[in-house]
Parts: sequence; C-alpha cells; structure tokens
Amino acid sequence: MAYFARLTPHQEIELINRDRQTVITLTNSHSSQQQAQSASYTTGPWLTPPTLWRDGDRVILRIESDTPLILHLQGQAIAPLDRLPPLPNADVIPLQRRADPAPMPPMEPMQPMEPMTMGNMTMNPMQMKMGNMELRMDNATPSPGSPASQAAQFCPQCGHKSQGGDRFCRACGQSLTT
Ligand SMILES: [Zn+2]
Repeated sequence: MAYFARLTPHQEIELINRDRQTVITLTNSHSSQQQAQSASYTTGPWLTPPTLWRDGDRVILRIESDTPLILHLQGQAIAPLDRLPPLPNADVIPLQRRADPAPMPPMEPMQPMEPMTMGNMTMNPMQMKMGNMELRMDNATPSPGSPASQAAQFCPQCGHKSQGGDRFCRACGQSLTT
C-alpha cells in the first residue's frame, strides 16, 4: 500500500508499506532544488490506512499494525513517539491512495572480496630500502682491526701475550700504547 499527502505547498509525504517495512519519505521542493528524506520502520502489514494529523507546525503520523508506529514529523525531522500525544486542535490531513510503486529490483549479490595483495612489496628486512636509506646489517658487525678488536698483542719488552685493549703489559708493566 502507498499513500501520499501534501503537508505544505513545498512538502509532500509518502507512506509505503512493503513486506514488513513502513517507509516514510518526506520530499521538500523549493523552486529548483528538491530534498528527500526517508525513514524505514519494521511495522508489519498495515491494519488500516495510516492517519495523519497536523497540529500547529508539526505532523503526527499513526500506523496501525502489529507493531503500531507513531511518528512526529517536523520540517525534515522524523522521530518516533512512544504514544499518541494529545491532539486537541489537530486537523486530519487527507491521504490519497497511490498505486504501489514498482518493487525494487533485487539487489545484486555482493562480489566476494579479492584477497588482499600488497603489490610487489616484499618484506625482506635485510634488504629493505626506505627512500634513500638502505639498511645493510653487515655494517653493524665490527670489522677486524678496529679499536674494539680483541686480537692478541705481544709485549715489545718481554713478549708476553696480552689481551687487546690492555694499555700495559700484564707481565712487565711495559706500556703497550705507542
Ligand atoms: Zn712485558
């Protein structure tokens, strides 16, 4: 079922009951531009045609169904109400029956997601380049002959074998630095 009513010279409401959904569409038209706002509620099938009241600048809509729906419409705002508010001076807005709109074409099934690929990026940390900076892990190991080398030395005075890094011979005390 579908009904519509003109709320103001520039605003029209359309009420559609399709399957178990009640779809309310407010369409505002001002000269050239047209704005539409829709809200959808699960009400089940309508038991009676909807009722619209105008109360001042607000509009109250009641849908009689298994799950009754009462909506407060003001401007472009659509808000559900717990119960019908008192409407002492409200006027009923006549609703006009409209031919049911063509059913929506069935949604195309979603295509399954392609597996994620990371392009040609390879995650080899030993060769990873970041801009101009190239990480080369072999720079981190000390090269032979550096001051940190633990290579053995021999005392020029007594020939005692000393550990690298020693400043004096452990046997005779001869200075090993030159
Ligand atoms: Zn020595």
